[in-house]
Amino acid sequence: MSALHEKFGLTRVINAAGTYTPLGVSRSPQAVRQAAAQALGEFFVMDELQDALSARVARLTGAEAAVATHCVSAGITLSVAAAIAGSAPERIAALPDTNGLPGRIVLPAGHAVNYGHPIEQDVRLAGGVPVLAGSEAGCTEAELDEALGRAGTGALLLVSSRLVRGALVDLARAVALAHRHNLPAILDGAAQDLRIDELLATGADLVLVSPHKYMASPTVGLVLGRRALVAAVRAHEKGIGRAMKPTKEAIVGLLAALEEREALDLSAWRREQDAKVAALVSRAGALRGLRAEAIADPAGMPFRRARLHVDPQSAGLDARSLAHALRGGDPSIRVMEHAVSEGVLDLELVPLTAEEIDAIASRIETLTGTA
Ligand SMILES: *Cc1c(COP(=O)(O)O)cnc(C)c1O
Repeated sequence: MSALHEKFGLTRVINAAGTYTPLGVSRSPQAVRQAAAQALGEFFVMDELQDALSARVARLTGAEAAVATHCVSAGITLSVAAAIAGSAPERIAALPDTNGLPGRIVLPAGHAVNYGHPIEQDVRLAGGVPVLAGSEAGCTEAELDEALGRAGTGALLLVSSRLVRGALVDLARAVALAHRHNLPAILDGAAQDLRIDELLATGADLVLVSPHKYMASPTVGLVLGRRALVAAVRAHEKGIGRAMKPTKEAIVGLLAALEEREALDLSAWRREQDAKVAALVSRAGALRGLRAEAIADPAGMPFRRARLHVDPQSAGLDARSLAHALRGGDPSIRVMEHAVSEGVLDLELVPLTAEEIDAIASRIETLTGTA
C-alpha cells in the first residue's frame, strides 16, 4: 500500500471495517488489476462489453440477463427508472419527470436503509416517490399488500443487508405479493454477492449486487434478472443513466473478477477466513479488559467477524476511545463502530493479510497497556 500513499502524502489504512466506501471498498487481486489496467489502453464497442458480461453472468447464475451500472446506487435508480418508464425512448428522455407514470415505489419501512446516503434518494433521482409500508418495527403482509395495491404504484423495492431494521420481512413472500399486483420486485443485495443464488431464489425480478465489495472488482454495479427489465435498465443509459455509466475498465475488471469467483474454492476460502478470525480472537481475548469472540454475519454472508467486548475498568479505556486511538495511529486501523456504545467493536478481516492482523493485535496490546 505504500508507494502511492508516500507519493501523494496519503494516510495508510488497515481496513477492518468491511467493504466500506469511504475507505476504497476492497482490494482487487492481481488478475483483476491487470485486466482493468489493460482495458484502459484499449477501445471497445461498449455494447459488446455489456453483452459479454450479460452472457457470462447468465451462465454463472442462471439469471436471464445482466447489465453493469456505475455502482449499485446507480443500479437502484436505473431499476426504478425501468420499472416506472420501461424502454420507450420518449419516456426515457422525460425522466425524472414521471408525470402520468406509476411512480410510487413501495419499501418496507425497515428497508429504507442509509448506506452512506438514504436509499429513498436513489428512488427520487429516477422521479419515483418512495412510499414506506409498515413501521420501523416491522411490516406485515397486510400492510405491504395495502401499499402495493394503491393506484400509481410502479414497483416493490427490498433490501437484503445487515442495515435492515425491525422484524424480518420474508423476501420471497414479499416478492410474491408484488407479483400478485403485477408489479416487479427489485432486491438490493449490494454487499451480498456471495448469496446471489439465494437472492434470485426469492423470485425478485431484478437483483443488485456490488461486485466491488466481496468480489473485489473495480467500482461497478451488477443488475441481474429478467431479460425485459434488464434491457430497460440498459436503455436508460441513454437517459438519466448517462451520469451513472460503467467504465470500460470496470466491466473488464468485473469479467476478470467473475473468473476469479468461478475458480474460488469456497470451503477453502471459508477455512482461511475462520483461521484469520481465530488468530485475532485468541490474541485479543488474552488481553486485560478484553473479551473476544467470532460472530456470524447477521445477513447470512458465509464468513465471520471478530468481536471485541471492551471492559473500560480493566482495559483502561472504553470501546470508543480504543476505536479512536486505533484510527489515529499509523497505519490508521479502522474497525466497525456500530455497537461502540455497548462497548463492542467488530472487525472484518476478509481483505487483510496475516501481517496486517498481527499489526492490529499488536496495536491493541499497546493501547490496552498489555504489550
Ligand atoms: C454498499 C451498499 C449500497 C451501495 O452500493 P454501491 O455499489 O457502493 O453504490 C446499496 N445498498 C446496500 C445495502 C449497500 O450495502
